[in-house]
Amino acid sequence: MHDFLTEELENLKASGLYRTLRSREGAQGPRVRIDGKEVVLLCSNNYLGLADHPRLKEAAMKAIERHGVGSGASRLVSGNMGLHQELEERIARFKGTEAALVFNSGYTANVSVIPALVGRGDTVFSDKLNHASIIDGCVLSRAEFKRYPHKDMDALERLLSGDSPDSTTSLCFVRKSGTVPAGSRRLIVTDSVFSMDGDIAPLPEIVELAQRHGAMLMVDDAHATGVLGSTGKGSLEHFGLKSDDDIIQMGTLGKALGTFGAYIAGSRELIAYLINRARGFIFSTSLPPSVLASSIAAIDLVEDEPSLREALWEKTWYLKKGLDSLGFDTMGSETPIIPVFVGDAGKTMEFSRRLFEEGIFVSGIRPPSVQEGKCRLRATVMATHTNNDLDMALDAFLKVKKSFL
Ligand SMILES: *Cc1c(COP(=O)(O)O)cnc(C)c1O
Repeated sequence: MHDFLTEELENLKASGLYRTLRSREGAQGPRVRIDGKEVVLLCSNNYLGLADHPRLKEAAMKAIERHGVGSGASRLVSGNMGLHQELEERIARFKGTEAALVFNSGYTANVSVIPALVGRGDTVFSDKLNHASIIDGCVLSRAEFKRYPHKDMDALERLLSGDSPDSTTSLCFVRKSGTVPAGSRRLIVTDSVFSMDGDIAPLPEIVELAQRHGAMLMVDDAHATGVLGSTGKGSLEHFGLKSDDDIIQMGTLGKALGTFGAYIAGSRELIAYLINRARGFIFSTSLPPSVLASSIAAIDLVEDEPSLREALWEKTWYLKKGLDSLGFDTMGSETPIIPVFVGDAGKTMEFSRRLFEEGIFVSGIRPPSVQEGKCRLRATVMATHTNNDLDMALDAFLKVKKSFL
């Protein structure tokens, strides 16, 4: 009955795209045990080392003692607690916006918020390298989906002016005629830090284009929250753009903040609207007390301990310079996400396997996460890495490169 499963799995294996799970023991940190072997972990989004920070653990345990482990319902039914509102106020204060709303994950936020903002007859403009959850949100919205080449502002402007019917950059979905009048809303959506390349979107230009062409703007700060900007507030701070309630800022709690979940920060009106229209908010059990309390503690720590972010950037440049000087192509990375270009999927996975043998865990990235022929190792740095960890990694990269590429 399910012959297609066997067939599809065989196809994946034959093309080097078959994926399996590896199991980690203990907390997420610079050194971990994976499948029983101790390795330097170079593929974690736990940038600031908060995932097992004592202050976060203590906050979580206290919240469990006081409020239990499960929230029991969606926010609009009986799952809304003071802690949800406390976290949202904390996020809004941190981001400098009027209000914020938490979601159960970044994936949920993107697939819920984009379809709440645009629908049939509207248009959404999306960078070609945006995260899969943004793409899924765009598709789910049924808005006309126009994709512009990575960070290409001229192409975005042409699409916004409506004079580029370029079929390679636009993906139009069939509209059911007659049922809904054509809308006129336009939304530009972009990762701020691109998750597979580690480069940064030209936000000042995008903000200007959005204003000039009357489009809404949504920025995904998943890898920027706690990382970019002089106080870790994210991409707007990085560019010296003042927090603007017209910009829809999305960010995640599960990466640099070390916990789980996501947020949208923006105007009070936007948040009220999303409470009424974002399906992933309405129809899903709310985040549990431990996650809410530890997320509040995480934001406090980002503000109280700038040394964590300083260490993260210092380690980032250390590893990036090291890789560059060994002749690797780090693909224009500007952040703690440092891709190392390989190209072919099979070779990438073999490279990753050999690094693992040398005690370095860096995952190989292949389609559908990146385009075919653009496979890479994707190293990420943590504030808690020691220079010794990173030197070990550089030695291993060099050794494997010599024996293999
Ligand atoms: C990780 C990520 C997400 C998804 O966030 P989760 O909380 O892990 O679901 C969304 N957007 C970008 C750019 C990401 O890197």
